[in-house]
This record gives sequence, structure tokens and C-alpha cells, in this order.
Amino acid sequence: MERYDVIIIGSGAGGGTLASHLAPSGKRILLLERGDWLPREPQNWTTSDVFIDNRYVSEDTWYDAKGVPFQPQVHYFVGGATKLYGAALYRLRKEDFGELQHHDGISPAWPIPYDELEPYYTLAEQQYEVHGARGEDPTEPPASAPYPFPPVEHEPRIQQLADDLATAGYQPFHAPCGVRLNAADMAFSKCIRCQTCDGFPCLVHAKSDAEVLGVRPALEHPNVTLLRNAKAVKLETNAAGNEVTEVVVERDGAEERYRADVVVAACGAANTAKLLLQSASNVHPNGLANGSEQVGRNYMFHDSVAVLALSREENSTVFQKTLGLNDFYLGADDFEFPLGNIQMVGKSQAEMFRGERPRQTRLAPEWTLEKIARHAIDFWLSTEDLPRPENRVTLEPDGNIKLTYTETNAVAKERLRHKLKSVLGKVDLDPGHLLHRFAYMKNDIPVAGCAHQAGTCRFGSDPGDSVLNTDCRAHEVDNLYVVDASIFPSIGAVNPALTVMANALRVGDHLLERLR
Ligand SMILES: Cc1cc2nc3c(=O)[nH]c(=O)nc-3n(C[C@H](O)[C@H](O)[C@H](O)COP(=O)(O)OP(=O)(O)OC[C@H]3O[C@@H](n4cnc5c(N)ncnc54)[C@H](O)[C@@H]3O)c2cc1C
Ligand code: SF4
Repeated sequence: MERYDVIIIGSGAGGGTLASHLAPSGKRILLLERGDWLPREPQNWTTSDVFIDNRYVSEDTWYDAKGVPFQPQVHYFVGGATKLYGAALYRLRKEDFGELQHHDGISPAWPIPYDELEPYYTLAEQQYEVHGARGEDPTEPPASAPYPFPPVEHEPRIQQLADDLATAGYQPFHAPCGVRLNAADMAFSKCIRCQTCDGFPCLVHAKSDAEVLGVRPALEHPNVTLLRNAKAVKLETNAAGNEVTEVVVERDGAEERYRADVVVAACGAANTAKLLLQSASNVHPNGLANGSEQVGRNYMFHDSVAVLALSREENSTVFQKTLGLNDFYLGADDFEFPLGNIQMVGKSQAEMFRGERPRQTRLAPEWTLEKIARHAIDFWLSTEDLPRPENRVTLEPDGNIKLTYTETNAVAKERLRHKLKSVLGKVDLDPGHLLHRFAYMKNDIPVAGCAHQAGTCRFGSDPGDSVLNTDCRAHEVDNLYVVDASIFPSIGAVNPALTVMANALRVGDHLLERLR
């Protein structure tokens, strides 16, 4: 059996980034990915295929707390969820690394300060070609370098909104964006600035995703091997239980086994917990590395809601995700607790609405939906979801994931929506017409919308209360690491991917040191 220096399981934001960071070292690296390449095909950019027929959503069945099966909105491809993501690449705020009192309780501190992750945020912004403007966002944490690319400019209706917000006393900013746009020379720009970005794969590979800017660069090194359609199903250990000896993989219907000095799980929050739980053994009866009984717990996924406001004039914006508003991130004059982040989401299209509420809207005349879509300005509101031990991933007897989840911070979420309403009243948008947009996270089945899943294997300094130490190594298993969103002790209220990438780079430096 061939032995590797490092096996990385999962090729998304965490695993793909780590692979690219370790690749130049010459170490023998095996990247195991349960999915395949996301096919490049016209359907990548077809709304009905992506939003209605769920062409790129996994066929997994998970169960909710009551045992009701549902299809989770997860994506198994090389590059993981980043193949479909909106590429809003935010840093967590400095305050998110400390303890924060929320309406519903405490958001716990991270075991490392912001300053320790800062250099890696800068590196991740460079690797993922983030476009942005420092100095506009009032909650922006300190940064040691400017964004590597200028901000993606607003189209006229969004510029108007930005101007109106500023006139009304708010502080809108250019959202940090991972699209490979060269606005100064569109003839040579990889990104064509289209309307099928947020929630769609990028047909022309111009999105800064973990396949294009993580896995592919890693594969340019001969010491890196990618196995696709290779699903890790179990991690086996030595008799003492303190070293992973073999990774058991299902590929093409057969079992294969691989060995490495270091094994890194990066399957995404739910699936990394699943892998550890199903790796239970005599020495780890509750699941691998689960002496603390924290594996699977503290699942978080952002209290997000997509809403649309109706503009009097048509909104002809094509690429809408260029503006953010963090004026209420840490609280408001009438609410002492954090509310969250407001940003734009991909522009509404009439076809999306039909996918969202099929029974109701199929009956509605198409022109009504089209008219709504033409006039819509679409916002995405995120409030921090607090870690709760009872919000957790467990396994059903059939081996599938059971997600037990009760919402947190509902009051803050509702307050944020009201804040947006009051803001709209001041910027010539009708506050009476703030409609829910259900599709983006399939909020009609709340637990299925697991795009921003995090928690389940948090890192910390107390082995009794966390799964991983501050290097993201399992407290109980010397050669097992985790670098995906499951390490988050708290999730903040901005999008998680850049933090996953930055932390993977941080852990990558530790591994380079270890493997020297
Ligand atoms: C529609 C959508 C929009 C989003 N928009 C944004 C955004 O704008 N900004 C942002 O910051 N974040 C966004 N996100 C979230 C972001 O994509 C995730 O936070 C991020 O990708 C998480 O990284 P990860 O490494 O934890 O997991 P993933 O990136 O999902 O990677 C996990 C990988 O592991 C593989 N895998 C799972 N189980 C196994 C196994 N047993 N064996 C082998 N491989 C396995 C999966 O196939 C996958 O490739 C969005 C997500 C979605 C779905
Ligand atoms: S906007 Fe750019 S990055 Fe996004 S899908 Fe279109 S071409 Fe790709």
C-alpha cells in the first residue's frame, strides 16, 4: 500500500486551499474528493436547471430532529461548496474573535486572536484574488495589505442605492468579491460580469473558487494526486487510538485503503462530523476524537434571509453583489446586541421565483413574476447563529446524517429585517414591499439550507470542551487535523469561506513545520 505524507479528505475551501499551500513543499499529498469535476456545460448558467431542478445539489438524504428526510443543499464536487458560492469573501470582524454578548446568549471567543489569523487573511485574499476597498466598512478589521484588486464597481442602480444610503447617513461599502474581473480591460477579463453567478457554477472558470485557485494549482505539482469519486468512509487507528493508520475509501463501488503520516479532514462541517462519528472503535466508542463528546455539536448555519425590495424604476443590474452594509453589525441605537450584516444577493429572475414557491407561483401569470424580478433589488441579511450543544449532527441507524437544530437569535434577525425596512424608507424604496425570497437557501425547509454550515468540531485549548487544539489537530489523535468550517467556535455574521481558507493556510504552515 502506497504511503503518503499527507492525505486531505475533501477539496473545498479548506481542503483545496490546504492542498495548494502544501503542494510546493514536494511532500507526497493525496487529495480525496467524493465528488467529480463539476461538468462544464450550458446548464451551469441556466436558472431552471440550477435553481428549480437542483442539478448540482447532492442526492444525499439527511433527517431532521423528527426523523423527517430532506435533501440538503450540499454540493459534492472538486472545489466543494465554493463551486456554487457567491464569492463574497469577508474577513470575520476583530470583535468576532472575542466573546460577544448577543440577545440569545454568548458568542464564544476563538482560541486565537484576530491578529494571529490576519497574515493568513491577507494571503487568502491574494490567492483568491479578492476585489475590495479598504476603509469604507466601519467594522472592517485591521489589515496588513490592501486588497489585491480594486473593488467591483456598482452598476448604476446599486450606485444610486449607495449614494442614497450615504446621503441618509449610512456607511455602505464595496463588498469584497472573488470574481476574476478586469473591468479596465474587459476584452482580457476572465469574468464577463454575468447575472448567473451567486448560487451558480461559473462556466468560464472566472469565479475564485477552490477548484480553480486551490486544487488546479496544486495539481501542477507532480507530488499531488487527486482521486475523484473517492469517498472516505472510515478512519482507522492504531491500538492505542492516538494515530490514524488507514483511511478507508469507497471508490467505484470498491473499498480502498490509504496511509499517510498526517490525515486532514476537510469534508465540510456536517460530513467531517459524520466521518469522525462513523469511525468509532473500541478505543473511541463515541466516535473518533470524541472523548469530549463535542463532535457533531454546536452546528451553526447563519440566520440568513433573502429579501427583495421593489424599486419604482426597473433595476437593470446584472451583477448585483457589490454592496454591503455593516452599520448594524454590532448593534443599533435602539438595540444593544449585534444584529448582523446586510449585503446584496444575486439579482432575482422570474424563473427563480417559480422554483421557490412552485405551488403558488406556477399559477401566477408569468408577467407578474417578471415584473417583480425587473423591479427587485435583492438583499441578503445574516445574523449570527449561536453555538448550542443541542444543535448537532448525529447518525441515523442507516448511517445518514440527522440534523437536530433549533434557531437562535430570532429576535436579532427580525430586528435586522426591520432595520432594513426603515433604511429603505429613507432611500426611495418602498418599505411596504420587502418580500421574502425563499430560494437561495431553500428556507421553506430551514435545515436544508446548509450553505453556511459550521461548528461540529470546534477548536480550543480545553480538551474537555473542544475537539481540536489551536493547531486544529485532534486533542486525542496525534496525526489527525481538521481544516474546514467545522472548526469554528462561533460563526460571526459575515460569510465564512475566507475564514476557512485563511485558517487552512495557517494550519498549512504548521504542517509544513511538522513535516520538515
Ligand atoms: C450556494 C452557496 C453560496 C455561498 N455563498 C458564499 C459566499 O458568497 N461567501 C462565502 O464566504 N461563503 C459562501 N458559501 C459558503 C462556502 O461555500 C462554505 O462556507 C465553504 O465552502 C466551506 O468550506 P469547507 O471546506 O468547510 O466545505 P466545502 O467547501 O463544502 O468542501 C467540502 C468538500 O468535502 C467533500 N467531501 C465531503 N465528504 C467527503 C468524504 N466523506 N470523502 C471525500 N470527500 C468528501 C465535498 O464533496 C466537498 O468537496 C456559499 C455556499 C453555497 C452552497
Ligand atoms: S459573474 Fe464572472 S465569476 Fe460570476 S459566473 Fe459570471 S463570469 Fe463567472
